Amino acid sequence: MSQIRGIKGMKDILPEEAGTWQFLESTIARVVGGYGYGEIRLPVVEVTELFRRSIGEVTDIVEKEMYTFTDRNGDLLTLRPEGTAGCVRAVTQHSLHRQAQRLWYQGPMFRRERPQKGRYRQFDQVGVEAFGMTGPDIDAELIFMTARLWRELGIDKHVTLHLNSIGSSASRNKYREDLVSYFSEHTDALDADSKDRLHSNPMRILDSKNPGMEGLIASAPNILESLDQESAEHFSGLKELLDSAGVTYTINPRLVRGLDYYNKTVFEWVTESLGAQGTVCGGGRYDGLVAQLGGPETPAAGFAAGLHRLVLMLEEVASGVVPEGRLDAYVVAVGDAAALAATAISENIRDALPQIKMVLHRGGGSFKSQMKKADRSGAQIGLILGEQEVADGVVGVKQLRGDTPSEQQSIPLAALAEHLNKLMTDGQN
Ligand code: ATP
Ligand code: MG
Repeated sequence: MSQIRGIKGMKDILPEEAGTWQFLESTIARVVGGYGYGEIRLPVVEVTELFRRSIGEVTDIVEKEMYTFTDRNGDLLTLRPEGTAGCVRAVTQHSLHRQAQRLWYQGPMFRRERPQKGRYRQFDQVGVEAFGMTGPDIDAELIFMTARLWRELGIDKHVTLHLNSIGSSASRNKYREDLVSYFSEHTDALDADSKDRLHSNPMRILDSKNPGMEGLIASAPNILESLDQESAEHFSGLKELLDSAGVTYTINPRLVRGLDYYNKTVFEWVTESLGAQGTVCGGGRYDGLVAQLGGPETPAAGFAAGLHRLVLMLEEVASGVVPEGRLDAYVVAVGDAAALAATAISENIRDALPQIKMVLHRGGGSFKSQMKKADRSGAQIGLILGEQEVADGVVGVKQLRGDTPSEQQSIPLAALAEHLNKLMTDGQN
C-alpha cells in the first residue's frame, strides 16, 4: 500500500527537538506570567468573517493564505491564521474588556504560504494582548517583556528592535494619498503585486520583500512626517520609556506590518540569523479593533512571536538542541515471575516518587539484551529483577552512568524508594 505523508509545510516535531520546545515554552510562560498576564485558550477555528473584518480584505493573509471551508450546515469557517482576532472576539463575548486585561495564548496558526525554512503552513505563535490601557507605558511594557524573553533565551545579541508609528486613521489616510501620488509617478518601477496594491492598500507596498523595489521604497514619503499630534506625542513618550530602560531600537518608517488593524505604535524584532525569514516577533497598538468587531471602544496593544523561528534561533545561535529531561531509571526484569513483580514494584515507586522518569522493560528477552537497552535509554539507574531478587524481596540497583558504573547493590523493597530518591538527587548535582 502507498505510504501516507504529512501535509507540505506542516511539520512534525520529533522527540529529539521536543526538549528545545519545552525549554522555549516554559521560559515564555514564566516571563509573561511574571508580568501578570493570564493565559487564555482559544479555539483554532473561527467564522471567516472574523478574520476578514479584522485582518483586512486586501492583505496577503485574507486574499490568499487562509484555510477556509464550509461546515455541513453551510457556515463559512477558517483555521485561524493569527490569534489577535479570536482573542478580541473572546474578550468582547465574555465582557473581559470592562477592566484592564493582560492576556496571553499560544498555539498553532495556519497560513497557506510557500513553505521554506522558518515559514510553514502550520506554525506556533505565542500572542500577548493588553486591553483597556491607552498610554505608551503599556506599549513599553510589551517591549520590555519581549526584550527580557530574548535575554532569558540567550538570543538577545542576535535580534534588533525596529520601531515605527503609523499614526491615527485620519493621519494615515492623508499619508496614503501622498503615497499613492508618489508611487503613481513611478508605476514603471512597481512590480505586479505593488501595482495591484497601489489603490487598494498602498501602504502594503512598503512591506514588499522584493529586493528590486528597495530603492523606490526607500525614497517614498516618510510616515513619521505626517503623524497627527497625539500619535507623535505617544511615540515620543514610548521612545523616552525605552531610552530610560536602556532598550535600543532602530526607527524604521517603512515598517507598516501586514495586517490592517494597527495604529500608532508598531514594532518588530528582527534577526540576521535566519536568512529571509528574519522577523521573530511583531506587534503594536490596535485601538480600533475591538469596536470594529462589534465591541465597545477599547484601547489595546499586543504582539505575536513565531515559535518555530525561535526554536531555529535557539538551535543556531543559543543553547543548541536542549535535551529532553533524561530518564532516571530503566527496569530490567528477566523471567515471568520477575516481569509480574516488576509491574507492581514500578507502580509503587511511581506512587512514592511522582516526579520519576522511569521505563519498565517490555517484551522479555535475556538479561544481556535488556541491559543493553537500559544502557541505550540514557537512564541513570538500572533496576534489576531476576528470579533470585524476587525470592529475596530485593531489587538490584546499578548506576549506569558516570566514570565508574557502580557494582550492583541489593536493596530491600521497603527501602527502595528512599534509596532511589537519594541517587536521583545526588545525580542532579
Ligand atoms: P513575515 O513577514 O515573516 O511573513 P508576518 O508579518 O506575516 O511575518 P505576523 O503575522 O506578524 O508575521 O506573525 C508574527 C510572527 O509569527 C512572525 O514574526 C513570525 O515569527 C511568525 N510567523 C508568521 N508567519 C509564519 C509562518 N508562515 N511560519 C512560521 N512562522 C511564522
Ligand atoms: Mg507573512
